[in-house]
Amino acid sequence: MKAEQQSLFEMNPAPWDQDDAREQLVATLIFSRGPQQPFDYRVPDRLRGEIAPGQRVRAPLGKSDRLVTAYCVRLASSMSGAALKEVDSIVDRQSLLSPAMLRLTEWMAEHYMCPWGQVIEAVVPGGVRAQAGTRQTQFVSLPNRAHARLGHMKLTPTQQRIVDYLAGRPAPTPIVQVARAAGCTVGPIQTLQKKGIVELETRRFDSSPIEDSPAATEAHLELNSEQRLALDAIAAALDSRAHSTILMHGVTGSGKTEVYIQAIQQVLRFGRQAIVLVPEISLTPQTEARFRSRFGNVAVLHSHQTDAQRRRHWEQIAAAGVSVVVGARSAVFAPTPNLGLIVLDEEHENTFKQDSAPRYNARDVALERARAEGIPLVLGSATPSLESWQRTVTGEYRLVSLPRRVFDRPLPQVITVDLRVEFRDRRSRGAISRQLQLGMDAALKAGGQVILLLNRRGYSTHIQCPSCGLVMRCPHCAIGLTHHVHGDQAICHYCDYQVPAPTECPECQFAGIHYRGLGTQRLEAEVRARFSGYRCLRMDTDTMKQPGSHERALSAFRDGEVRILVGTQMIAKGLDFPNVTLVGVVNADTALHLPDFRAAERTFQLVTQVAGRTGRGEKGGRVLVQTFSPDHPAIMAAVRHDFETFAAGELPVRKKYEYPPFGSMIRLVVRGPAEPVAAEFADQVATRLRAALEKAAVQARVLGPAPAPIAKLRGNFRFQIQLQGVDSEALRHAVREATDALKPPELVQWIADVDPVDML
Ligand code: ADP
Ligand code: ZN
Repeated sequence: MKAEQQSLFEMNPAPWDQDDAREQLVATLIFSRGPQQPFDYRVPDRLRGEIAPGQRVRAPLGKSDRLVTAYCVRLASSMSGAALKEVDSIVDRQSLLSPAMLRLTEWMAEHYMCPWGQVIEAVVPGGVRAQAGTRQTQFVSLPNRAHARLGHMKLTPTQQRIVDYLAGRPAPTPIVQVARAAGCTVGPIQTLQKKGIVELETRRFDSSPIEDSPAATEAHLELNSEQRLALDAIAAALDSRAHSTILMHGVTGSGKTEVYIQAIQQVLRFGRQAIVLVPEISLTPQTEARFRSRFGNVAVLHSHQTDAQRRRHWEQIAAAGVSVVVGARSAVFAPTPNLGLIVLDEEHENTFKQDSAPRYNARDVALERARAEGIPLVLGSATPSLESWQRTVTGEYRLVSLPRRVFDRPLPQVITVDLRVEFRDRRSRGAISRQLQLGMDAALKAGGQVILLLNRRGYSTHIQCPSCGLVMRCPHCAIGLTHHVHGDQAICHYCDYQVPAPTECPECQFAGIHYRGLGTQRLEAEVRARFSGYRCLRMDTDTMKQPGSHERALSAFRDGEVRILVGTQMIAKGLDFPNVTLVGVVNADTALHLPDFRAAERTFQLVTQVAGRTGRGEKGGRVLVQTFSPDHPAIMAAVRHDFETFAAGELPVRKKYEYPPFGSMIRLVVRGPAEPVAAEFADQVATRLRAALEKAAVQARVLGPAPAPIAKLRGNFRFQIQLQGVDSEALRHAVREATDALKPPELVQWIADVDPVDML
């Protein structure tokens, strides 16, 4: 390295001898495929005025000088005489990424250990890159100077019609439209161009322009005193014109959304834009409707949109054509030109983390963006993540609390049903305990509605032969198969492998194979049998595959047509139905014993959130939580709606093991179709990691390699290495050290997941 710099220096002409060294413009390019490091290219004079950072360009790459698309990330003038290759051409007329967004992607590449080019491609939607929904065509115009020449020129009748038509149109017009108006083909128009009368230029135009947003229809609500304090805190942050983060801890139904809305109102007054991030916009059409009814001019971004729709929203946002952007995870990249506020609702949700590269968490990216743009970030939740909560303890974040529901409605009473007793006394056969049965009867008879949560889909989650003990497993994943009644299939929930459900054991041919374990399908069947007089609907990923099925199901429930809603965690989130007077958690323990350091936190969140779906109306509400562990701190705290006690009990455990929020974590997963090959490579990685940490004298733990909790997935054996330490930068550095020159054997792949959320 040293030697190279030396020689470069010597090649530079001396300052008094710089006549030959012309100042040149240098573009730094990042390739989205191929080499990961940046490359410098010379910008030829013909492109000088046009090139800008954030555009795509074409540039020669490699020995063959094949033209490849790349992103221009930097422009600088240089006096160096070094010979550089030249940029060939520019792809985008306008930058796809502002300088601020380029810096954000650079930060993500560094933080999440993902190639910069790959991050950029994840940030700019495919539909924008492909210019989906636009067409390229020729536009015709009649320049003013043509009129003078027309005087002494003889035109055919067709040509005359073309000229007459264009004379009345100041803006360039698509060529087909001109041809249609003149009743001719494009031939005569091209002839006119050759004669120098009309001008032709190629332009892109939107073949499916955006539909108009409806106007706002609803006025703001009068805030209660606690909401007002929360709004004041955000307003102060906005006024300070500097970055700060506010965590709004508000119980379910305390009116957080109303506070966001009024804070956004203030942002708009200054001509700025706001981004609102929500976990799954398609699951909560209510949220969308609420923002639309207040602001009218709202861009909603979600995963069910077509490429063309996404491209249109993106361009509209970039042109400052909308003030409020509401969307899931990737809306954090919305190209708002003058952002004033980011709100991230339900900040504890896992769906903010992307599970493919770049493995970013929108919560952390939002923080980085808010910092860079010098604007406030508002995080909201009834059950904040311990990561965010701890930052209010250290003073990094400001905490505001909404401890009461609006109109002082009481939080629902939560009662545990001890399933051990239920089991011992053989009180009930099936999933619904006697207590829950009685509760449902009472709620339904009084005209209320019931929500039942069970976080497992399918009918039987466990297919086992009682004679030889064989458990039916997926041949590609180390996962038991689940019986689905529809089509009578045994299905793998990870890879969707399906076989007809066996009637006899495939191993010993015993005829009485057992279907055990409870899924939502079986629960639904039980509910239908026990409550035949009431309509019941199941919501899980099996029944909600069709577009629009959520909206239909939720509106049937809202209308009261459906009285009992059975579902997975999908129904635990953000729904607001005033007539729900009973929520039943069928098994609170499903997540409690997973090999995940956040298992208790997840359980607390799920039970608290689903409990929050009741008691939102005047009738009040109750929650029955069935569990085998009524004494578990997570369940006990959820029963009392007591986040602070839960956090106070859980944080010392995290601290003891240096788990987040007290330490950083990087999870490496090595996978391959041959178990020993993958294991051997994982060993090698772990050894090199330990060596790298030792060399750098970094205090950190390396756990593993060990088989991942899901030891086999889609035919690949999986091994994990967990890296934990206080200095996250040092951990990243060690991973780079250990893996830079390391090439995995054929068919073996590895990933690094920084700040992992999924521990399976
Ligand atoms: P959260 O987001 O905390 O769950 P919401 O903002 O959804 O709470 O509020 C719950 C319900 O209370 C909504 O129906 C909302 O319209 C209503 N609400 C919120 N704030 C007020 C207020 N100040 N006055 C009257 N109703 C309110
Ligand atoms: Zn499988």
